[in-house]
Amino acid sequence: MDWKIQTRSKECGLCSGLYQDKAPYHTLLFDVDHTWTRYDICETCWKTKKESFLKEKGEFISHWQGIFQSPPPPPPEILEQNRAEELLRELLKRNLPSFAPSAFVLAAMLERKKELKIKSVKTSGETRIFIYEHPASGDIFPIVDPNLRLAQLDRVQQDVSDLFEKGIPETLNETNRSTTMVEDPTSTVSSD
Ligand SMILES: [Zn+2]
Repeated sequence: MDWKIQTRSKECGLCSGLYQDKAPYHTLLFDVDHTWTRYDICETCWKTKKESFLKEKGEFISHWQGIFQSPPPPPPEILEQNRAEELLRELLKRNLPSFAPSAFVLAAMLERKKELKIKSVKTSGETRIFIYEHPASGDIFPIVDPNLRLAQLDRVQQDVSDLFEKGIPETLNETNRSTTMVEDPTSTVSSD
C-alpha cells in the first residue's frame, strides 16, 4: 500500500471548476492497484455525475463531505519582501549596470528585514562591492556600491517603485538609459 499524503485539490476532479471559498465538496478514496487515489468533486458534479462516476471507478474506500476554505493570502509585508528578492535576483542575473542603484536599495530593504546579511565588503579598483548572503538558501548576492548622491535619491526611489509596479523591462537598451552610477565619490549618502 502506498501511503502518500494526498492534499486537497483546488478544483473539481470532474469538471475542473475551481472551488470558491466555503464551497461544499465530496472527497472519495479509491484503491487503485494498491494505491489510494483521491478525488475531490464539486457539489454540482456529485449531484449530476455521481452514478456514472461510481460506475466507472468501482467501490470507494471512503467518502466524506467537506467545506472548501480558500487559503488566506500572505500578509502584504511578506509579499513585498518576496517581490524585492525576486527583483533583486532578476537584476543580478541580467546584469544591468543602470539598475545598480536600484539593486543597492533592494538589498538594503532585504537586509533590514533580515532576509539578507552582509558578509564582507570587497574593493575592486574604485568600486566597493558588498557581499550579501541570503541565509535561507546560502546564495550570495554581490551588490555594487552605487555611491549615491543626495540629488539622485528621488530618481532611484522612482526606479525602485517602478520596478515594484511594472517589473524589469523585458528589453532594455542600456545605452539609452542615463546611468545613475557615479564616478565621483564625494558627497555620498551612507546606507546607515
Ligand atoms: Zn465539478
